[in-house]
Amino acid sequence: MIPESFEYHVPKTVDEAARMAAEFADDGKVLAGGHSLIPMMKLRLASPKHLIDLGRVEGLKYIREADGKIEIGALTTHFQAEYATLLKEKCPLLPETARAIGDVQVRNKGTIGGSLAHADPAADWPAAALALDAELKTVSTSGERWIPVSEFFVDLLTTSMNPGEILTAIRFPALPVRSGDAYAKHAHPASGFAVVGVAARVTLDEKGIVEKARVGVTGVSSKAYRASSVEAAITGKAPSSKNLDTASLHAVDGIDLNGDLYASAEYRGHLAKVYTARALALAVERAGGK
Ligand SMILES: Cc1cc2nc3c(=O)[nH]c(=O)nc-3n(C[C@H](O)[C@H](O)[C@H](O)COP(=O)(O)OP(=O)(O)OC[C@H]3O[C@@H](n4cnc5c(N)ncnc54)[C@H](O)[C@@H]3O)c2cc1C
Repeated sequence: MIPESFEYHVPKTVDEAARMAAEFADDGKVLAGGHSLIPMMKLRLASPKHLIDLGRVEGLKYIREADGKIEIGALTTHFQAEYATLLKEKCPLLPETARAIGDVQVRNKGTIGGSLAHADPAADWPAAALALDAELKTVSTSGERWIPVSEFFVDLLTTSMNPGEILTAIRFPALPVRSGDAYAKHAHPASGFAVVGVAARVTLDEKGIVEKARVGVTGVSSKAYRASSVEAAITGKAPSSKNLDTASLHAVDGIDLNGDLYASAEYRGHLAKVYTARALALAVERAGGK
């Protein structure tokens, strides 16, 4: 349980961190909360020669409104997101998702940026980011760019960030009128990670019909995904229990299901449908629908 030796670097600014990330792009890693990276290093599943600790970089820990959206600094902890008044008022899916992560120690150290950059297939934040059509800001020595979440998760523990890029912020649209969102999770009894986690945002029109639905699913496959067939099946329909349940049957359409000792692929697929129906029903209720 002792990692291989490494050099430890402590940048103070994003520019300095980006220069280090470029210099050590081949054999270095940035460190955020360390709650995924350090265990991997101890198990020697990762052995970076250089560790670039973002912990003292100015200006990566914040939650604010920017250009009509909610912006969260990458180093913001799950705990800070869980208790942020701005999020509770303007984007309640985020505190609800944060609260579902691990235990209080994990939430105190782990960061939203670290979780998204790590792209663990059982992490909670990816489901919320997908359901909300988030955008992720990265910085490197070549400049900065915003990546739509639809292009961010590539595969197991793999994102579309290039070597040397640092995730610095995530933007989410605030909750629109006549809308509700919800996160429903079946947690692994030992680790707390999502066996299945479903985030949903539903917007109703003035007659109470589903105008827009977004569903993000995690835990089920090698990467989190949008359940587009569910969204298509419920859009334009009345949000009755029957319609929500019928739409949720599409939760794993076209998806390669993970299976393990706790939950076979078949059971995971079943859970995904059940939890999609639960998340949608709660989102509809919160949107003021029946
Ligand atoms: C006991 C336990 C239970 C847990 N339960 C859950 C759970 O229920 N749900 C859940 O979602 N998670 C869970 N986690 C994981 C936890 O949420 C971690 O916080 C998260 O996976 C990684 O965030 P971190 O800040 O610790 O990142 P780190 O471990 O520091 O980094 C993870 C990876 O991301 C990269 N990285 C980090 N930050 C950046 C950045 N800004 N830019 C570019 N790359 C970056 C690192 O180089 C590394 O490869 C659990 C962890 C533990 C130890």
